[in-house]
Amino acid sequence: MTDEAPPEARPIEDVAPPRSEPARPVADRSRPRRRSPRQARPPFAIGSATVSPGRKLEIELPVARMITGSPLSIPVRVLHGVRDGPTVWIGAAIHGDELNGVEIIRRVLGLLDARRLAGTLVAVPVINVPGFMNGSRYLPDRRDLNRSFPGSHRGSLASRIARLFTDEVVTRCEVGIDLHTGSDHRTNLPQIRADLDDPTTAELARAFAPPVLMHSSLRDGSLRQVAADLGVSVLLYEAGEAWRFDEPSIRTGVSGIIRVLAQLDMVPEDIRQHLRRDDARASELAGPLVARRSRWVRARRTGLAQLQVELGERVEQGEMMGRIHDTFGHRLSRIMASTSGTVVGLNLDPVVNQGDAVVHIAETDEPGRAGGDGVEDRDAVHGTEDGGGER
Ligand SMILES: [Zn+2]
Repeated sequence: MTDEAPPEARPIEDVAPPRSEPARPVADRSRPRRRSPRQARPPFAIGSATVSPGRKLEIELPVARMITGSPLSIPVRVLHGVRDGPTVWIGAAIHGDELNGVEIIRRVLGLLDARRLAGTLVAVPVINVPGFMNGSRYLPDRRDLNRSFPGSHRGSLASRIARLFTDEVVTRCEVGIDLHTGSDHRTNLPQIRADLDDPTTAELARAFAPPVLMHSSLRDGSLRQVAADLGVSVLLYEAGEAWRFDEPSIRTGVSGIIRVLAQLDMVPEDIRQHLRRDDARASELAGPLVARRSRWVRARRTGLAQLQVELGERVEQGEMMGRIHDTFGHRLSRIMASTSGTVVGLNLDPVVNQGDAVVHIAETDEPGRAGGDGVEDRDAVHGTEDGGGER
């Protein structure tokens, strides 16, 4: 890493500019032929680029240079709608090994057209570019990007990425959707974690309509904390595991994001029609379960764990969820539910050490029964959102 100034933000276009010309924003081929008075919306500025109403533009936000001298930059696609509306970011791979969100963003972008959008969408499929290239949750120096916000222009690489993302994306948005998966061989039931005490955030979280909504307070250094400080409503979507595509998690994420954009009146009627069909099916189910507290059940002995619960399953306090044996088959311990609720996270690694988190139970209301005492177990709720981080 050198102290040399990073290169200017470089737009990468659907139609690339000639090599002999300086890089500058060039619109794609989706330019509308006619302009109505409603399209007289100011352009959207990001990096060194501006995006006209009704256009999409891909740019790269420069971070630093790689060892080869090539620029290291964060790719961003902006869809600047023709009509006024909120500015929303969708971002993934802040932990570089979390891939479901990258695929979710790819599919969402395939459904949207800037010419038919109200407001502005800023899509950042890979925020932690070095981690993504290495298949690693962290930056090369093992720093956790989601502990590095708001960051600094002169700090570590993580800190610089955090600062760039904060300045260029977060400060321009009213709403953000931060896409994650479980970490360290853990998988998560699709769930939204958000500050449900904030009415605007809670409304958007319900619009996303995941199987489970978890009230989650903020954690120092996280993107969500910094965004909240800037008055941005942030939904954190957790689903599936690292290094894998999980189709149900991806589908729930795609429809959830479109539902949020519909709630914000950003997307056209035909997409809403599609959602209504989806919602008709969803309404046959009970709707999202809400939890204000969750607990990880930990292994009481070191051994091989055989779990007998699945994601989404309802468990009652005291129920046996699995066993731990030694390698000869002697039973060492049973894994018992320490509380009643819904299984929202599982450790997939059968080799467990004493104290390892094995089953994550969200204290959801059982349908038809009141519940939730409003007391939050911070450690538990943050167990997978940000777990395993190092500074
Ligand atoms: Zn993550």
